[in-house]
Amino acid sequence: MTEKKVICKNCIMVEGFLGIEINEDNLCNFCADPKHVNPNWSKKIISEEQKKKGLENWNTTIKSMQQAHDGKHYDCIIGYSGGKDSTALVDTFVNEYHLNPLLITIDTGFMTEVAKENMKETLTKMDLFENHVMIEEPIPTFTKLYHYFFFTHDSREKSLTVDVCHKCTDLIHTISYKQALTRNIPYVIIGFSPDQIARYFYETNIEDIVMDGTPIPELQKYLGEEDLQWYLNSEEVEYINDFSPRVLYPYHVIDYDENEIINRLESKELIQKGKGDPILTNCHVVKAALLHDLYRYGGITYALQYAELVRQEEDPEKHNQSRKSWLRMYKQIGKSILNDSFNVEGMKSFFTNLGISKEELLKRIEEKRHADPNEEKILQNIERIKTNKLR
Ligand SMILES: [Zn+2]
Repeated sequence: MTEKKVICKNCIMVEGFLGIEINEDNLCNFCADPKHVNPNWSKKIISEEQKKKGLENWNTTIKSMQQAHDGKHYDCIIGYSGGKDSTALVDTFVNEYHLNPLLITIDTGFMTEVAKENMKETLTKMDLFENHVMIEEPIPTFTKLYHYFFFTHDSREKSLTVDVCHKCTDLIHTISYKQALTRNIPYVIIGFSPDQIARYFYETNIEDIVMDGTPIPELQKYLGEEDLQWYLNSEEVEYINDFSPRVLYPYHVIDYDENEIINRLESKELIQKGKGDPILTNCHVVKAALLHDLYRYGGITYALQYAELVRQEEDPEKHNQSRKSWLRMYKQIGKSILNDSFNVEGMKSFFTNLGISKEELLKRIEEKRHADPNEEKILQNIERIKTNKLR
């Protein structure tokens, strides 16, 4: 008798994680039906036409930036995180487009050392310290935001990682956008990779910029007057009618090759060898949220996004390779979370700042899991990771 597989044979989704089912052909809901919608992920289908239009717009936009360029003003803002994607954007804007970007880094209080080191490396090498602004004042606001999500998360189907990431990103982008408004800079450029299209493709429209710039009511109760200064105020919303900087995600339309980016940055010594890995540069909050979701839902939430990358790989050999390596990572992350060797220092400082111990959090999770009809499957999946039986 052949046992039914737990992992989708085409991607890396696991049966029973966040409502995912594997059918008799060993395919997950997403692979069986591209139109499948899960509260945590749905495939956005971007047509060639949309991509082409976006790329044309991008080329025109760069040209108009170059025409307006006077060397005195900033041509655009780049959201600069110290990760490989935003670092490569900085390189492209300066060395290929010959433009003068303002690099804005928002410190959420939980940036990794690797990201900071990468930043120092790049700014020194490219002599860009004067173009860089590090904004640290909103750290207490970010802490409250994380506190809100970690303490009030109450769902049976929606991952904490997705929620907290979206709302944190919204605030990071809003703070950069406010800089664009104050400094009269017409563009905010974000280095989202082609798979980061869960909400926006190529450009965020004005209504969404305003919506993302306003805290949700439940969160607002957690925030004080001093926190609201980091969100859009009514005057700014009014002003956007006259001057509305565009928020663009160029990697959604221009060629994006992860290996090319890493090779370019390493050969130019903009980041240290082996330090371009998003797992290293991603913030500690995501990692703590991954821990939460693994204990709460029995899987690694990252997989939703990475499964999409696997599915998109059309060449059978590359598809296979990509599936294998993401799956390996899935198991590795899972295992290291479960045996407490995952991002130990970062995790410790995150929980200390939040005012909760990991044990307390795990206890809360256990209670919620216990009330979840899916508990058995969740525990099974956790056990499979622990005992190397996930296959
Ligand atoms: Zn699948």
